[in-house]
Amino acid sequence: MSKSDQLFEQACQTIPGGVNSPVRAFNGVGGTPRFIERADGAYLYDVDGQSYVDYIGSWGPMLLGHNHPTIKAAVIAAVEKGLSYGAPTEIEVLMAQKVRELVPSMEQVRMVNSGTEATMSAIRLARGYTGRDKIVKFEGCYHGHADSLLVKAGSGALTLGQPNSPGVPADFAKHTLTCVFNNLDSVREAFNQYGSEIACIIVEPVAGNMNCIPPLPGFLQGLRAICDEFGALLILDEVMTGFRVALGGAQAHYGIDPDLTTLGKIIGAGMPVGAFGGKKKVMQHIAPTGPVYQAGTLSGNPVAMAAGLAMLDLLQAPGLHQQLAEKTAAVAEGLKAAAARHGIPLAITYVGGMFGFFFTEETEISRFEQVTRCDMERFKRFYHLMLEEGIYLAPSAYEAGFLSLAHGEREIAHTLAAADRSFAKLAQ
Ligand code: PLP
Repeated sequence: MSKSDQLFEQACQTIPGGVNSPVRAFNGVGGTPRFIERADGAYLYDVDGQSYVDYIGSWGPMLLGHNHPTIKAAVIAAVEKGLSYGAPTEIEVLMAQKVRELVPSMEQVRMVNSGTEATMSAIRLARGYTGRDKIVKFEGCYHGHADSLLVKAGSGALTLGQPNSPGVPADFAKHTLTCVFNNLDSVREAFNQYGSEIACIIVEPVAGNMNCIPPLPGFLQGLRAICDEFGALLILDEVMTGFRVALGGAQAHYGIDPDLTTLGKIIGAGMPVGAFGGKKKVMQHIAPTGPVYQAGTLSGNPVAMAAGLAMLDLLQAPGLHQQLAEKTAAVAEGLKAAAARHGIPLAITYVGGMFGFFFTEETEISRFEQVTRCDMERFKRFYHLMLEEGIYLAPSAYEAGFLSLAHGEREIAHTLAAADRSFAKLAQ
């Protein structure tokens, strides 16, 4: 029995499902998760001494690779001074200024401790600002586990939302309308019916929680126009895309000016951080300036701010996002070519440092229901073949893949050779 297997058995005694966040449990692929001991650059090292080229990157934040020396030094310097003060610090001001410089629509920023807190707070603000209760989200997009967001579409078109989890009151869920990603007609229908009651649309500008689905041309622009027409706010959830798809996030890449933006994980370089921000006239409604309550004892934590700020500084190096996009394209196109060599139908998507691959005969993927039709058994087999080859992909066919700048030619060549052998086995 491997040490990972032993640890998982022990973990299951004291931690529900053995993990502190469900996707880590390998339920989507079967088997037991690897327990990680340390990470460096593009690699994870497990407790059994195996190394893996990592395409999860802590689910996004490790844009520069793991254990980056400059970020580590910034964290150690911050720790030397103290872990938390519960009072304002200069580094919070520097962080807010940096975020505004990189993402100009975020005229004001409030730091929180996770992506969930960021989206939950942004939605409360949108509701408080507009005086409306309903929100629009998209099937297949994930925005964290706040009650209003753990909601699925009702049974018919435009029925009110239903809880996606026990514990979410139906009375909350009924305020969430679920539309179809990349389908503006579904959004227009929702607004035609409930327009004067809708506070906001929240959307992942590149969906990263139903594998990786980029927006179709005009989709995000259409959402902006509908929000403007009906007096609703547009919230771009850039928890995954922020600083990754482009330095200024997906909003810079696609030229969208949202009212509010949510950020997470990446902004803390791997420390537990999130942020929401946007137009000053909206952000002024947050306490203590305005009446919409929002708070956090550890928000703006100095160690997390030091990590995040060090990373954002490094990310400003010219050409860096171009390099990341090129590496990502090399992996995604390489996977596609390897699959084709063995007659395995595979569709790919990629934008900036995010990519997806789909075991399907379809060539263009733009909708959630296409993802649900993919060959999940084939994905599971491929996942385990790649894991045995030392390639650590997301253990779910519904998650995007992430590259870092630490993924060099060696790691990419290793990945594509492993994929070639794995596709060959799948084809047998
Ligand atoms: N929004 C998006 C787009 C996400 O991908 C996630 C998490 O993966 C969240 C929000 C929630 O962030 P957290 O897990 O930090 O609460």
